[in-house]
Amino acid sequence: MSEGERFKSPSGTHDVLPPQSARWEEVLRLFASRAGRAGYGLVVQPVFEHLEVFRRIGEATDVVQKEMYEFTDRGDRRMVLRPEGTAPVMRAYVEHRPAVPWKVWYAAPHFRYERPQKGRYRQHHQLGVEAIGTDDPALDVEVLALAVEFLRDVGLRDLTLLLTSLGDATCRPAYLDALRDYLAAHEAELCDDSARRYRDNPLRVLDCKRPQCVAVTEKAPALFEHLCDPCRAHFQLVEHGLDTLGVKYEIAPRLVRGLDYYTRTTFEITSGALDAAQNALGGGGRYDLLAEELGGDPAPGIGFGVGIERLLIACDAEGVLPVPPRRLDVFLVDAVGGEHGGADSALLLLDDLREVGLRADRAYGGRSVKAQWRAADKSGAAYVVMVAPDELSRGTVVVKDLGTGEQKEVGRDEVGAWLRAQIEHLGEGG
Ligand code: AMP
Repeated sequence: MSEGERFKSPSGTHDVLPPQSARWEEVLRLFASRAGRAGYGLVVQPVFEHLEVFRRIGEATDVVQKEMYEFTDRGDRRMVLRPEGTAPVMRAYVEHRPAVPWKVWYAAPHFRYERPQKGRYRQHHQLGVEAIGTDDPALDVEVLALAVEFLRDVGLRDLTLLLTSLGDATCRPAYLDALRDYLAAHEAELCDDSARRYRDNPLRVLDCKRPQCVAVTEKAPALFEHLCDPCRAHFQLVEHGLDTLGVKYEIAPRLVRGLDYYTRTTFEITSGALDAAQNALGGGGRYDLLAEELGGDPAPGIGFGVGIERLLIACDAEGVLPVPPRRLDVFLVDAVGGEHGGADSALLLLDDLREVGLRADRAYGGRSVKAQWRAADKSGAAYVVMVAPDELSRGTVVVKDLGTGEQKEVGRDEVGAWLRAQIEHLGEGG
């Protein structure tokens, strides 16, 4: 590692700083609101889990085979930084046995050792929901609608919901045999990875993005056309619910996604504003067999994850969700200084202003009154409140509207409420 690299954020990671981070706050707020209104509660989970939690979710997948940040802790335990969000939630479900349906949401970092490029990082962040304990298609509809409606809340419009069903333990085995036979007949045309793993996990080949595999699988049988009657009926109810809600979707018979646990409803939401190679904003589906894989009793479930970084790139491309302006309401100028209790008056007043809900700030370092006014102008605050000796002795402060230049005296104890009224008025007036 060069000297220059040592104190930079590691490759594939990034710092999110103000004012850009205000968009993150907004995205989180919108997601928490959407999920909360649908009855989902927040889960906060460890960033690392035992290796076993993830090994089960897809031994033949890139995420598990090649991309996990694995390490041995000081107690000789094999650990993994979470590469995805569903297995940890299911681990928690199996561990705590909450009442069902258990509906939760999360906002968490995920770690994958991928080749960093725009929209693909080694630490990215996902917003997601998981709903465990019922295979009612109404829940599929709820989860799908929540994903789409949240993205629309953010302001995105160029969205496509790709939808399929990956069947269940009844219809999938026979299909996998048929797919395996098809791939065996085309083995020589597959990429090395696919040729190696198609016998163990033929579905992965459908997810391979290499042109030769895309070409081979174009004519491969699709599970969607081989669903058993219960899976087909389930899917039709999901379609009906989405149609009723007016949520548009496209059937994508070849969609398999990057992890092995999906059953039945499986989906991805792509953005037309992103480069085709990285156009998935999020995705998810049912994982009705995962609870058993993690040592629990059978418990069907469905969920999705949306990548925050990807979502923000799509927002930039669509020109939505600009950085919200963070204007200060008030800048406090202390014209008394350390003498006559001035510093204390300023300290108390600033605290009072913040207490009543105003965004209030000040200058530091004992700067001259002139320098404080310059700082106030630079801050973009709507008002200045100045604590000055004469006014202070009368129980008042000076208030200046930096927009109009108007200045007046307001009672020290009323100034917070007075400003609030002005600011609310400003807000209403647009
Ligand atoms: P997945 O867990 O693979 O289904 O991914 C869900 C979403 O997370 C994707 O649609 C992306 O928006 C985002 N995502 C996945 N991997 C990455 C990554 N390496 N960098 C940035 N975003 C990612």
